Amino acid sequence: MSKITMKTPLVELDGDEMTRVLWAWIKEYLLLPFVDLKTEYYDLGLEERERTRDQVTVDAAEAIKRHGVGVKCATITPNDERVTEYGLTEMYKSPNGTIRAMLDGTVFRAPIPAKGITPFIPTWKKPITIARHAYGDIYKNTEARAARGAKAELLLTKPDGTEERLPIISFDTSGGVVQGIHNTDESITSFARACFTYALDTKQDLWFGAKDTISKTYDRRFHDIFELVYEKEFQVRFKEAGIAYFYSLIDDIIARVIRSEGGFIWACKNYDGDVMSDMTATAYGSLAMMTSVLVSPHGWTEYEAAHGTVQRHYYKHLKGEPTSTNSVATIFAWSGALRKRAELDGLPKLAAFAQALELATLKTIEDGLMTGDLYSISTLANKQQVDSETFLLEAAQRLARIGY
Ligand code: NAP
Ligand code: MG
Repeated sequence: MSKITMKTPLVELDGDEMTRVLWAWIKEYLLLPFVDLKTEYYDLGLEERERTRDQVTVDAAEAIKRHGVGVKCATITPNDERVTEYGLTEMYKSPNGTIRAMLDGTVFRAPIPAKGITPFIPTWKKPITIARHAYGDIYKNTEARAARGAKAELLLTKPDGTEERLPIISFDTSGGVVQGIHNTDESITSFARACFTYALDTKQDLWFGAKDTISKTYDRRFHDIFELVYEKEFQVRFKEAGIAYFYSLIDDIIARVIRSEGGFIWACKNYDGDVMSDMTATAYGSLAMMTSVLVSPHGWTEYEAAHGTVQRHYYKHLKGEPTSTNSVATIFAWSGALRKRAELDGLPKLAAFAQALELATLKTIEDGLMTGDLYSISTLANKQQVDSETFLLEAAQRLARIGY
């Protein structure tokens, strides 16, 4: 069988530790035998980031801007221990943070449903995709302790230099704490656009909730901007696509999410997205079955797994022991990116391959062959735990049989 050809290169961002090992195997067993893979390769492994003083991360983000689609392996975000372990000259910032800032993107996380892995919420039949607004609010706050007798005010210096002072509290009977947070119309608008765009792209309804009954200016601004962007730019296309935009109070949204079947995108303010994405990941079974897509309002996308570099397994691997690390989310990062590339370049064969790759991966699990994390939660009677490499080889056999 001749290999599938590509037009535009896919931007490939390699990473660290166990996921770097899986990355190479995925290419060797599942991609290269079938596709004449055309990628522009950037090594975001920590050693290369150190060698280039993190320039490689910036170059990779620029390449995604140029070509439109990227696929990324999990990477280490350095902390004190990593600085020692890798002899770093600097505590480099999270590559994901750098890329997200450069692409002005929003992250969408969706679980990968598989037979035998049942969500804790029995009504959830389809995936719930969470979009987190990753800017501002308490994540860029200014906060202070206040002593008894202190007074806190909100001071706004206007462009013309005049000042508006709003009382917060007088700490008359007790000391306490005070916090200043902000967001910008620009960032909220970008977030709204990314959410509407991705809803159209994936043909799913978009839900958004905030607390604008209590926060009548701050959260109200989020509600208003979403409404404005929807009416001006998306209403007509949503109607044509047969999908809906739905706003409600965050409390009501949460109640509806729990009772729902899934199959929609849930846009969350920063904090809500932080905690609710952990909640859905757990409820759907495993972080290793969660994909993550960075969508920029400029149309660029980057696909990755939601989990990290699985350090504990890597140290085992280094000792020569086989690991049972789940590669599903990383495989789906590749299939997602290849499908997007296929769509942009008009390559139906490549799109069919992406589909077959996902089917073969899920078929392996449904046939009872799975890694340890899934083995511990699967309800299949014939389940069997396999190591990382065996899983990929089994998936490759099924992929060759399925055809595309
Ligand atoms: P992690 O890599 O997600 O792993 C935490 C634990 O979750 C693992 O020890 C393992 O549990 C389980 N797990 C996660 N992914 C798995 C998989 N694919 N298959 C099987 N089990 C899986 O998080 P971490 O250990 O906190 O972080 C390690 C490194 O990843 C850190 O340096 C961090 O900076 C980085 N990180 C990167 C990204 C990213 O690039 N997107 C995201 C998060 C973290 P058991 O040990 O119980 O088997
Ligand atoms: Mg969290």
